[in-house]
Amino acid sequence: MKGKMSLTTKIMMGLVAGLVAGIVLQGSPDFVNTFIAPLGRLFLNLIMMIIVPLVFSSLIVGAASVGDVKTLGRMGGKTLGYYLITTAVAITIGLSLGAILQPGAGLSIPVDAEVAVNEAPALTDTLLNIIPRNPINAMAQGNMLQIIVFALFLGVAFNAIPKEKGQVFIDFFDGLAEIMYKVTSYVMAYAPIGVFGLITPVVVNHGLSVLMPLAKVIAAVYIGCILHAVIVYSGAVKIFANMSPLRFFKGIMPAAITAFSTTSSAGTLPVTIKSVRENLGVSQKVASFVLPLGATINMDGTALYQGVSVLFIAQVYGIELSMAQMGTIVVTATLASIGTAGVPGAGMIMLSLVLTAIGLPLDGVALVAGIDRILDMARTSVNVIGDGSAAVVVAATENELDLVSEA
Ligand code: ASP
Repeated sequence: MKGKMSLTTKIMMGLVAGLVAGIVLQGSPDFVNTFIAPLGRLFLNLIMMIIVPLVFSSLIVGAASVGDVKTLGRMGGKTLGYYLITTAVAITIGLSLGAILQPGAGLSIPVDAEVAVNEAPALTDTLLNIIPRNPINAMAQGNMLQIIVFALFLGVAFNAIPKEKGQVFIDFFDGLAEIMYKVTSYVMAYAPIGVFGLITPVVVNHGLSVLMPLAKVIAAVYIGCILHAVIVYSGAVKIFANMSPLRFFKGIMPAAITAFSTTSSAGTLPVTIKSVRENLGVSQKVASFVLPLGATINMDGTALYQGVSVLFIAQVYGIELSMAQMGTIVVTATLASIGTAGVPGAGMIMLSLVLTAIGLPLDGVALVAGIDRILDMARTSVNVIGDGSAAVVVAATENELDLVSEA
C-alpha cells in the first residue's frame, strides 16, 4: 500500500485484527494467553512507565504558567462544573435505558458466591487522601490525585517567589515534560500491536455462553455510551469550541481505542494528552491540568454503567425503585464515579456504594461481574472521551485552543 497510513488507522486495524483473531482462535486459549497476551502487557507496561513523570512534570509547568491562583481557580471551577454536569447526565441516560430496555426483567441468575464483593472506601477518607502525606510515596504509588495536588502547590509557589530563584526548577521540569512527550510518541508507535495483544485474549476468554444471558445489559451500556458520546460531547465541542464533532472524535480516537483495550483511563492518560494536544489543538497548559484530573475523577461511562447496573440488579431481585431512590442513585453514582480510580474494574467495586445507598443486596454486584471487562471497555472509552471534550471546552473558553492545528 502506498502513502503513509495514520497512526489512528493503524490502531484501528490493530483493534479489528484483535477482534478477528479472538474469534478465529476461540478454541486455543492457551496459545493466545501465552503468545498474544504478552504483546498487550508490554504495551500496558510501556504506557504506565510514562504516566507519573509526564503528569508530574507537565502539571508543574502548566500550573507555573497559569500564573496566579485566581486563574487556576477559574479553570478548576470550569473543569469541575463540566465534569459534574456531564456525569449527572450520563447517569440519567443509564437509568433511562435501564428502565426502557428492562435488562433484568424475568431473569433469574444464580448469584455466584465465589465473587468477593469489596467494600467501597468511605467518602471522607477519599477526600482526605487527596493530600499526600509523602509526595515521593504518592509518585511511587502512582496516586494521581495526590500528584496533582502536590504539582499544583509547586506551580503556584513558583509564582510567589523571585523568578531567578525558581526558573531553573521550572526549566528542568519543562525539559522533562518534553522528553516524556517524545517517549509517548515512541510508545504509541507500538500501540497497534499492543491493542491487538490486549483485545484478542478478551474475545477468547469471553465466549458466547458468558455473554448471551447478559446481552441486554451489555446492549444497554453500549447504547448508552454511544448516545452520551454522540449527544453530550458533540454538543459541547460544537457549542463551546465551534469544533466539528467529526473532527473531535477523529482526534480523540487513539485515546478512545487505547482506553477500550486497556480499560484504564489512568493508563491511557499519556495517549489522551498527546491526542488532545496534537490532534485537537489544546494547549499544554490546559491539557496538563484538565486531563490528569479527568482521568482521576471524571467517569461518565462509569456513572452510566452504574445507572444501568443498579436498575438491572433491582429488576433481577424484583425490587421496584421509587423516584426518591432514583434521585439517590444520581447523587451517589456521581460521588461513586468521582471516587472510582482509573484502573480496570474499579467501577464495579464502587457499584457497591450505590447499592448500599438504596438498600439493594450487595451480592447484586456478582450478577454483572462475569461481563465486567466487556462493560469496562465501553465505559472507560467514554470516560476518556469525556476528559478530552472537557479539555477542548476549557481550552476554548480560556483562549487556549488552536483550531487551525491539523487533525
Ligand atoms: N476502568 C475504568 C477507568 O479506568 C473505571 C471503571 O472501572 O469504571 O476509567
